[in-house]
Amino acid sequence: ILVNGSVVILFFSLFISNFLADIAVKPLEEALERQREFLENASHELRTPISIIQSRLEGLLRDPEKKIIDKYEYIEPAIRETRRMGKMVSNLMVLTRADAGEALGEVERFNLTVLGEEISEIYREFASIQEKPFRYVSGGDVFITANREKLHQLLIILLDNALKYTGTGEALELVIESQKDKAIIKVADEGIGIKEENLENVFLRFFREDKARARTTGGTGLGLSIARWITECHGGTIKAYRNKTKGTVIEVVLPRENHQRPKKEIARV
Ligand code: ADP
Repeated sequence: ILVNGSVVILFFSLFISNFLADIAVKPLEEALERQREFLENASHELRTPISIIQSRLEGLLRDPEKKIIDKYEYIEPAIRETRRMGKMVSNLMVLTRADAGEALGEVERFNLTVLGEEISEIYREFASIQEKPFRYVSGGDVFITANREKLHQLLIILLDNALKYTGTGEALELVIESQKDKAIIKVADEGIGIKEENLENVFLRFFREDKARARTTGGTGLGLSIARWITECHGGTIKAYRNKTKGTVIEVVLPRENHQRPKKEIARV
């Protein structure tokens, strides 16, 4: 009995130590793996613009007798890729801070409708230059306690996308309204839309439906993952769905006062 008892205890302690190792080490391994994947993707994404810039600059040197004005085909892609790379690096910095557990930061109570109006003024102009109708719909004052700068960034990401993925004549709309203790932000457009199977994937880091198109629109595939992080920092939810007629709607629902992080671990993107 004594021998049997010791065997049971031995197995039991082995089981417990494996179990403890599992719960302590697994999350660490998973975090390291995510970090490795992130670095690999980031390096891969940065390699392409660097090689484009390099080849265009080498092209510039090729015909020294040509005037600079006749070298547009070399200069324009180099400038475009430099811009894209700059944007990608700042987006990567935001996500690195998010991974390091950056907190929500300073929160204040403000009227989201007014922020919406300020941003709409700018985007109405951008949209009109591109001959796209722009509408701002607000359902009255929406007071919220939140990080104003982060919500500003969130609106810019969504409106930039709406502009990027619409063509001439296709409309975009920003809606800000409240429902009980929630603030709702919707950015709708009549653009190219997102395939049904990708409506959730678009929030993943580096995900783009069309990489070639992203190159010309200056996309980095990081905007919506930052939008999701900002939303989740505020204890809110974000989703994409297909617009009734044509195009996309991105909908953000935020608690107006309680901006606590949700209890469950925030999904890594
Ligand atoms: P990007 O910088 O490429 O726009 P995002 O993370 O903001 O990166 O978006 C990821 C992908 O989701 C985009 O590449 C695009 O394929 C798709 N997407 C985002 N917003 C829209 C939209 N309003 N209409 C159509 N597709 C969109």
